[in-house]
Amino acid sequence: MVNLPGYFRGTLELQDVIVVGAGPAGNNAALSLASKGYGVTVIDSRENIGDKLCTGLVGEECFRRHPIDPALVYREINAASVIAPSGELVRFETPRPVARVVNRVAYVSSFADQAREAGAEYLLGRRVVDLEQHKDWVSVTTDDGSIKARTLVLAAGFGSQLNRQLGLGEPSDYVVGIQALVRTENIDEIEVYLGRDIAPGFFAWLVPTEPGIALAGLLVRKNAPEKFVSFISAREAEGKITETVNKPVCWGIPLRPLRKTYTDRVLVVGDAAGQVKPTTGGGIFYSLLASEVASGALHQALSEDKLSANRLGVYQKEWKNLLSTELEVGYSARRMFEYLGDSHISSLIHQASNNGFIAELADSPDVSFDWHSSMIGKIVGHPTLGGVLSLVNPLLARMAKSPGLAGMVFPDQLVAVESEVTMAGTGTPV
Ligand SMILES: Cc1cc2nc3c(=O)[nH]c(=O)nc-3n(C[C@H](O)[C@H](O)[C@H](O)COP(=O)(O)OP(=O)(O)OC[C@H]3O[C@@H](n4cnc5c(N)ncnc54)[C@H](O)[C@@H]3O)c2cc1C
Repeated sequence: MVNLPGYFRGTLELQDVIVVGAGPAGNNAALSLASKGYGVTVIDSRENIGDKLCTGLVGEECFRRHPIDPALVYREINAASVIAPSGELVRFETPRPVARVVNRVAYVSSFADQAREAGAEYLLGRRVVDLEQHKDWVSVTTDDGSIKARTLVLAAGFGSQLNRQLGLGEPSDYVVGIQALVRTENIDEIEVYLGRDIAPGFFAWLVPTEPGIALAGLLVRKNAPEKFVSFISAREAEGKITETVNKPVCWGIPLRPLRKTYTDRVLVVGDAAGQVKPTTGGGIFYSLLASEVASGALHQALSEDKLSANRLGVYQKEWKNLLSTELEVGYSARRMFEYLGDSHISSLIHQASNNGFIAELADSPDVSFDWHSSMIGKIVGHPTLGGVLSLVNPLLARMAKSPGLAGMVFPDQLVAVESEVTMAGTGTPV
């Protein structure tokens, strides 16, 4: 850790880039910019890089682009079981691994190690309390002094107040994740649990890491601790969980992106920008992708010394080109899923498993851990599954009958039918 007296340092140097947040987004931006020769300082309030609530599931594409030492990978994932609200268990197996469970801290730290090797410096254990934009620089004030830089990458994760300080607001929808480490008996594959009693509108999981150990968690809009206790008790009663090793921890996950992810001299990336899969809440890969786009845009702007919001707007255009179909389709599917009652979900799962759809999907190139829109199109457009959706309401039935994504509706349209079906609440403070 670099230990410089903050205010003194601030008067001496104008850094090229300050990155706030040493998660996947911030470290990868730092790595990319430091590799291009820019002076980069990363600031994080944590001492232990990457030690933030997460399950550590990364898709194969992410892993191929950003591999780590195989010793830090707990498991390859090519099978998972989904347990319907009815109790029916459906196993999904793919011919090749689609994801891996990695040691999250080690994975995120590996980006920071590479960034340091490329010349980035890290100020850890410093909380950023204030950001100011000036004509020729930005100033970042921590609880231990302040630093100035030509530009700022804001990668402070979910719930950061710093977005608001810059007038960029915050993601308009989010969910709460809760998770703990548990000891298990005979849990060798991922188990995903669905149902209103367990995780209404979302899901719960057991993700095995080392032998006899798993991460148990769930996503939910409200009452996370209560839901978690009852999920764990039910698995204990089944003999799957024998002990909860640590206290469960809650953290938020954005489900919608910020409207604006740039301003003068500043780009916002990762969870802070809401660049997360709305279907599952996974955000590591999209954070890495968006931080690469951000570094490219900053490189161009820094080299020309043109750092106005106008100039940096290219970042938003580019990351939206890459991710917005996924974010929009994923969010529509998420809202649709939240409308389904237990009987609909059970029926969908039963039919999908019995009419060969699951086997067909497992072999299909549409199955991807990180890109869900074509898989969603396939499910929504399926004739039998569409029949189940028609039980929910006519709008969903119309969507199901339309071919693929052409039939998707987007959140504004869903508002029109909200009054017909009880919606889950829109979130509680974490
Ligand atoms: C229960 C749960 C399970 C998840 N499981 C997965 C999964 O399996 N796979 C997946 O892809 N995603 C998962 N996610 C989401 C994933 O963790 C995030 O999308 C990802 O970490 C986002 O990266 P980031 O760099 O944007 O933010 P973060 O990883 O949150 O990093 C932000 C950093 O900013 C720092 N920071 C914040 N405020 C300040 C401040 N004021 N001053 C200084 N530093 C600050 C924080 O300390 C933190 O280190 C999960 C999330 C939850 C809640």
